[in-house]
Amino acid sequence: MASKKEFDIVWGMVIDLDKCTGCGACMVACQAENNVPVTKDATNKLRSLTWLLVYELSNGKPFPDHDVAYLPRPCQQCGNPACVPVCPATVTKKDEEGGIVSQVYPRCFGCRYCMASCPYHVRYFNWFDPVWPEGMEKTLSPDVSVRPRGVVEKCTFCHHRWMHAKDKARVEGRDPYALEQMEYQTACTEACPNGAIHFGDLKNPEHTVHELSKSKYAFRLLERLGMDPQIYYLSRREWVRRLGDNYLDDEKTGDFKVVGGHGHG
Ligand code: SF4
Ligand code: SF4
Repeated sequence: MASKKEFDIVWGMVIDLDKCTGCGACMVACQAENNVPVTKDATNKLRSLTWLLVYELSNGKPFPDHDVAYLPRPCQQCGNPACVPVCPATVTKKDEEGGIVSQVYPRCFGCRYCMASCPYHVRYFNWFDPVWPEGMEKTLSPDVSVRPRGVVEKCTFCHHRWMHAKDKARVEGRDPYALEQMEYQTACTEACPNGAIHFGDLKNPEHTVHELSKSKYAFRLLERLGMDPQIYYLSRREWVRRLGDNYLDDEKTGDFKVVGGHGHG
């Protein structure tokens, strides 16, 4: 795997699984913000689009020891993204500013190599032209392009919001690369009623995610693959950390995994 590039700003997320109640507000906010169309048959998971999906995890024990957790899973915005080098049309790339993995829809011709290469299964193919219930098309956001049939899409950390925040800073004569945490937030972060989703620059000590990502309760999904995701999860429950990281039943993880010193300052 190619060595990881370092960026001045590394936008990232820390999702507290002990606060998430699985309400799905983040999923709805994401769908509305990014013009993700509703599918006629949403039970068909192979054909529907969900940039952010909330999974239910269970410790598998009977009552009274039964416990559940909910894990929201958008694109992990990997530091070493598997989806980038496989794309023959340079549609998807690791953004030099902020480390967001972008997707240039007009270039995509739908080969779906990126979908096959992503171990997190967070990319979606448009099997149909998008259709909205009558009247709902009036609520579409002008900031995000509507994707046609035959194109792959995924979470962009609401990239357009960053563009707006930078423009605003420029107009006010400020440095667009030194934003306060609240100047750029994703739609899912704002929508979560439990404050489970934190968003900011992982390298900026003044942003909450900087410290939270170094917590001894922090972990990343499939960390052993070396993809260096920019999304961290938090849980004080060891069974959650083990499941979330896809450890096998008989695998020993030690008391707590200490995450830190992995290149985000
Ligand atoms: S489906 Fe589109 S983005 Fe994905 S690898 Fe093929 S051309 Fe690139
Ligand atoms: S999670 Fe998948 S789609 Fe997102 S950057 Fe990583 S490899 Fe690419």
